[in-house]
Amino acid sequence: MARYKDEQCRICRREGQKLFLKGCRCYSDKCSVTRRNYAPGQHGQKKAKLSEYGTQLREKQKTKSFYGVGEKQFRKYFDMASNKKGITGENLLQILESRLDNVVYRMGFGVSRPQARQLVTHGNIEVNGKKVDIASYLVKSGDVVAVREVRKDNPVVKENVENNSVRPLPEWLEVDKEKMSGKVVRLANREDIDLPVEEHLIVELYSK
Ligand code: SF4
Repeated sequence: MARYKDEQCRICRREGQKLFLKGCRCYSDKCSVTRRNYAPGQHGQKKAKLSEYGTQLREKQKTKSFYGVGEKQFRKYFDMASNKKGITGENLLQILESRLDNVVYRMGFGVSRPQARQLVTHGNIEVNGKKVDIASYLVKSGDVVAVREVRKDNPVVKENVENNSVRPLPEWLEVDKEKMSGKVVRLANREDIDLPVEEHLIVELYSK
C-alpha cells in the first residue's frame, strides 16, 4: 500500500476524524483535526454531499487507514470474515484487531500503529517465545506477545511502556510492564473496539 509517510494528518482530515496515526501528537492541541477539521486541499472547506456509494467507500477507506492495511489484504480479511460464523462486519473488525502490529500498539509497546508495525518488522517482538516479524500475523486467544529479551533495552520501547498513560488497556489484553510482555486473554469483540466506523456500510459495499 502506498503510504503517506509524512502526511498521516491529511488522511485524518480527509476522513474528518482522528485516526491516531502519529502517537503523542494525536492527543495534543497540535493534532491537525483539532486545529483544522476540514478536508485538505483547495476545496476542503466545501462540504460535498456524499452518495450512498461514497459513504460506504469512505467507511472502508477510513477503516483501512486506521489499521494501515492495503486494499488487497483488506479484501482478504473481508472474505475471511464472511466465511466465519457470526456478523461479518464484527468479524472483520475482530480480524483487524488481531493483527500483531495492532496488538503491539494496544499493549502500549508502540506509540502508534505505524510505529508498532515498524517494531514488529524490525524484529523486536516475539509471540509465544518465537520471533515474529510479520505485522499482519494474526494472534489467537492465549498467545503471549512480548518484546524480545535482546531488544528490551530499545529506548523507543522503554519510553513507550513507561509513558503510556493516555491509552487505556483494552479488556481483552493483559500487560506486564516490567516484563514488557502481554497476553491475549480473548479476541476482541465489538464493544472493545473504539473505531468510530459503521462496519455494515463496508459489508454493503463489498456485497454489491
Ligand atoms: Fe495527525 Fe494524529 Fe491528529 Fe490524525 S489524530 S490528524 S495523525 S495528530
